[in-house]
Amino acid sequence: MTPFTYERAADRPAALALGARAGAKYLGGGTNLVDLMRETIEQADVLVDVAGLSGEIEATGDGGLRIGAGVKNTAVAADRRVRDGYPLLSEAILAGASAQIRNMATVGGNLLQRTRCGYFYDDAARCNKRAPGAGCDAIEGFNRIHAILGASSACVATHPSDMAVALAALDAVVTVEGISGVRDVALVDFHRLPGDTPDIDTVLTFGELITAVTLPPEGFARRSTYRKVRDRASYAFALISVAAALDVEDGAVKDVRIALGGVAHKPWRAATAEAMLKGGPATPAAFQAAAEAELAPAHGLRDNAFKIELSRRVIADTLVKLAARQESL
Ligand SMILES: Cc1cc2nc3c(=O)[nH]c(=O)nc-3n(C[C@H](O)[C@H](O)[C@H](O)COP(=O)(O)OP(=O)(O)OC[C@H]3O[C@@H](n4cnc5c(N)ncnc54)[C@H](O)[C@@H]3O)c2cc1C
Ligand code: SF4
Repeated sequence: MTPFTYERAADRPAALALGARAGAKYLGGGTNLVDLMRETIEQADVLVDVAGLSGEIEATGDGGLRIGAGVKNTAVAADRRVRDGYPLLSEAILAGASAQIRNMATVGGNLLQRTRCGYFYDDAARCNKRAPGAGCDAIEGFNRIHAILGASSACVATHPSDMAVALAALDAVVTVEGISGVRDVALVDFHRLPGDTPDIDTVLTFGELITAVTLPPEGFARRSTYRKVRDRASYAFALISVAAALDVEDGAVKDVRIALGGVAHKPWRAATAEAMLKGGPATPAAFQAAAEAELAPAHGLRDNAFKIELSRRVIADTLVKLAARQESL
C-alpha cells in the first residue's frame, strides 16, 4: 500500500473541495476501495471520508424515497418503507456480501464498487480496465463469471453490485454533485458498457460526489422480487440475477420491469423482454418467449456460455412465480 492521508469531510461543500484535489478519492465504508489500495490496484494521495454525510432516508413529495449516499446497506434493506414498497431492493441488498460488510458499505460505494474479474485484481495479468491498452487475459482465460451481453473486445467484465440491479429495475435516479453543480442521472445510464475504454466504469467525472439515490413512487414495485443464482448459497457474487416487478390485470401484463445482474458491464435493463410482454398475455409461454428475445444477442465465452440458458430460465421462472403470487391475492 502506498502512503496516503485521510480527511473526514465535515459537510458536502468541504467534501467537494477536498475531492477536487488531484489524487483524491472519496471513501465510503472502504470495503472495496481499501482492499484495492492494499493490492495497489487503486492508488490515492488523500482519502476523503464521506460515509458520515447524506445518511438519511426521506419520503419525497411525490410518494417516492430519497436515500442518502451515506446510508449503510443494512439500513436500506431494513427500512420498513423499502421492505414494504420496494421488496426487490431489500432482497437484492440482503443477497449480497455478509452482514458485517453490509453494516459498513454505503449506497454510494456500492454503486461504484469495481468488477470482480480475477485478472483485474492480479497485477501480473493483462487487463485493459487496470492498465488501458494492456490487453484482456479474461477473453481467452478463465471467464466463468464474465459478461454475455454488451461486452467488447477490450473487456468482458461484469458489474458485481446486486443493489444496482434492483435500482435499474426501479427506474431509480442518482444525484451527483461536483464543483460545477448538481445533476441527476438515471441509474440505467449511470454505469457504462466497456467499449474501447473499460477503465471508465460510470459517467461520473473527477471530483463528483454521489449524494443520493431517489426511488420513484412505489406503484407496482410492491409486487417484485430479486433472484440471485450463485456458486454458494451465501457470500458469493451473482452468476446471474434477475430483479423483476410484474403487474397483471385480467390475465394480461399491464406493466413489467426486468433487470439482470452478472451478465454485463452494467446492470442490464431487459428492455426487449419488457416491450414484448407489455399488453400481452401473462403466460409461461409469453415469459419464455420474452426471455429468449432478450438473450438473443448474448455471446458466450469458453466457460460462461451456460449463463445464456440460465438467464432465460431464471427470467421466465421469476415471472411465472410473480404472476402466481398475484393470482393468489
Ligand atoms: C467478501 C465480499 C463479498 C461481497 N459480496 C457482494 C455481493 O455478493 N454483492 C454485492 O453487491 N456486493 C458484494 N460485495 C461488495 C460490497 O457490496 C462493496 O464492497 C460495498 O458495497 C462498497 O461500499 P463501500 O461504501 O464500502 O465503498 P468503498 O469501498 O468505500 O468505495 C467504493 C468506491 O466508491 C467510491 N465512493 C464511495 N462513496 C462515494 C460517494 N458518495 N460519491 C462518489 N464516490 C464514492 C470510492 O471512491 C470507491 O471508488 C462484497 C464485498 C466483499 C469484500
Ligand atoms: S475482462 Fe475487463 S477487467 Fe477482466 S481482464 Fe479483461 S479488461 Fe480486465
